[in-house]
Amino acid sequence: MGVALAAENFPPPEFTTGYQFPKATEPGPRDASLSLVDAAVLLTALSLAAYFALRRRSRRELAILSVFCLLYLGFYRHGCVCAVGSFQNVALAVADPGYVLPVVVGAFFVLPLLFALFFGRVFCSAVCPLGQAQEVVLLRAVKVPRWVDQALGVLPFLYLGVAVLYAALGSAFVVCRYDPFVLFFRLGGNLEMLIFGVAVLLLATVVGRPYCRFLCPYGALLRLIAPFARWRVRTTPTECVNCHLCADACPYGAIQPPNVTDARIGRLEGRSRLAWLVAAFPLILAAGGFLGWQSAPVLAKLDPTISLANRVWLEEHGRVKGKTEASEAFATQGTPSADLYREAAKIRKRFDGGSLLLGVWVGLVIVLRMISLSVRRRREAYQVDPGACVACGRCFSACPVGRSVIAEAEGASISALTPGEEGR
Ligand code: SF4
Ligand code: SF4
Repeated sequence: MGVALAAENFPPPEFTTGYQFPKATEPGPRDASLSLVDAAVLLTALSLAAYFALRRRSRRELAILSVFCLLYLGFYRHGCVCAVGSFQNVALAVADPGYVLPVVVGAFFVLPLLFALFFGRVFCSAVCPLGQAQEVVLLRAVKVPRWVDQALGVLPFLYLGVAVLYAALGSAFVVCRYDPFVLFFRLGGNLEMLIFGVAVLLLATVVGRPYCRFLCPYGALLRLIAPFARWRVRTTPTECVNCHLCADACPYGAIQPPNVTDARIGRLEGRSRLAWLVAAFPLILAAGGFLGWQSAPVLAKLDPTISLANRVWLEEHGRVKGKTEASEAFATQGTPSADLYREAAKIRKRFDGGSLLLGVWVGLVIVLRMISLSVRRRREAYQVDPGACVACGRCFSACPVGRSVIAEAEGASISALTPGEEGR
């Protein structure tokens, strides 16, 4: 979205070599009233997803809604505007007072988070086109070992930190640039992204939603908020008989087994690990900050101004032959290279501070993840992990208790069911 909005900020340079501009793959800016239609569609889809997942407990209705959202938000809107990338616009608006956050982008950022606060991840269940693209290709999910799931589960939080850094410094919207599905929605893109997209989709045929679980930075935000939801997906409306059928049905490893037998031993081990972690907490943050600061030169290379300045310097000193499209465009503008170097030095300085903060964030994510692994909560029955559950509805029909309650409820009052678990 940000890319589309920034597209006409600068007039395109006039080339003397007969260079033809490539066809743009990002959708252009959209009329304000049509943008409001997009926001209305989002709001309606979120409301329906919450209703279908929590009230109706209907996988079929969620599937129909997900096809509509995939077609509208994915193929018709070309994946833009998109909640997954919207936090980058928000980060830029916070860091740069000169950037005005478009209302529709703000709505796409806030609404799914707001719904997650009340109903869990209903945005992921049937609304997000990226999630649905993976959902429809899933053939047979292999169970990812829990330790792999938990280790890779930190990646979305790290990606979130990196994306906020680049967006806040005005360098790039990396989540949009490296979106593996947008190329299918727009029917165009480069070869690298095609390979990436096909690889993710192939993986998604046997691993449930790999992008959602191990990469999506917006999913990381939803994962943080969803556990606070009062109405969210639960395994069974009444008493769990520990038959394991719901856990077998969940392709995302979001249902945790009872742990009463090993909880006591785990708690003792966890307590001593927790004590170590708390003691090492400031040290890990400081080490993260230092390493982040050290990596600033590498991180800064992705900034287009710094990258252009490096290229122009190499060309001016005869270290490389020929010109790139960017360096030719710069030469055509006639701006002195000293100005470019000065601007690049300014941005580079901002990267020092930003990379330091990113390093602290990485340290914080690692410590908090280790703390969460050290804290054992007692579970006497199978329980849905609200952060990991994407409310897909695959487990609804698996629970024998749930099925019998639903059968009874069809003839009884809906209020006989517990909050958040009513339905068919
Ligand atoms: S985790 Fe991310 S990509 Fe997946 S459905 Fe949720 S918001 Fe979309
Ligand atoms: S709704 Fe989907 S993600 Fe959530 S526990 Fe059930 S099967 Fe797993």
